[in-house]
Amino acid sequence: MAEEEWFLDEFEIGRFIGEGKFGKVYLAREKQSGYIVALKVIFKQKLEKYHFHEHLRREIEIQHSLDHPNVLRLFAWFHDETRIFLVLEYAAQGELYKLLRNLHHFSEKRAATYVASLAKALAYCHENNVIHRDIKPENLLLDFEGRLKIADFGWAAQLQAHAKRQTMCGTIDYLAPEMVQNKEHDQTVDNWTLGILCYEFLYGFPPFEAEDKYDTFKRILKVDVVFPSSPPVSPEAKDLISKLLVKDSSKRLSPQKILEHPWIVQNADPSGCTKE
Ligand code: ATP
Ligand code: MG
Repeated sequence: MAEEEWFLDEFEIGRFIGEGKFGKVYLAREKQSGYIVALKVIFKQKLEKYHFHEHLRREIEIQHSLDHPNVLRLFAWFHDETRIFLVLEYAAQGELYKLLRNLHHFSEKRAATYVASLAKALAYCHENNVIHRDIKPENLLLDFEGRLKIADFGWAAQLQAHAKRQTMCGTIDYLAPEMVQNKEHDQTVDNWTLGILCYEFLYGFPPFEAEDKYDTFKRILKVDVVFPSSPPVSPEAKDLISKLLVKDSSKRLSPQKILEHPWIVQNADPSGCTKE
């Protein structure tokens, strides 16, 4: 789609895909090109409750500037009096989280392919100085070939974090030790999160899961990683996880080093697709 001003009447609205905290998502087709997109409709009134306008605008601009195969594209955005419309890349296979719940845990090949896709996306984001993300299975979508797309990051992640702080119900499972302690942090928090996700892809649950938040908090600080005997997971995969879940943030493998790790080299599909 060309860089220009967009209006609602340029789209044919199709089926309702789903609803989030701030709005609704529809399948849509740009009339002139026939291009299929996901149209996210955010109600300004809902945002006002959180005093988020300026912030949202800045974050939308950041995401709009990102262009990577593993980052969900935000093609364009426009608004009318009551609503903001985001023209997003359509991820036909939906949430990775649902697939993980259906399959219980992923094969090493599938898990490695997703971890490699995430590492590529992170390397790209870090190069572009885009920090603060909220990467977790719910924010990962799959396109029709099963290629992983980081969605909802930047503005949505911050929006969600903000909303969660107000409701005090967010999960801390994906947060690095320095974050749960409210210390200064940098991009290396994402490398930690990749370790958490790699573990969850292979076992079906995140490593520091506990009955209550405080126990998770303690386990994160102790880096209390336990590798269950079932399902069987290769020593190479455990080696990668152990090199990401490191308390000293400067010692965690960088996205580039993740891509060079033997487990990734041997298992990840270079196309990033996971059609089986
Ligand atoms: P939250 O408000 O916490 O972000 P959410 O992620 O469920 O919750 P939305 O991001 O608004 O809410 O998405 C609503 C639904 O639409 C979800 O089921 C999501 O998977 C789906 N969805 C969102 N964006 C796309 C997209 N680009 N392609 C396909 N499905 C999408
Ligand atoms: Mg969302």
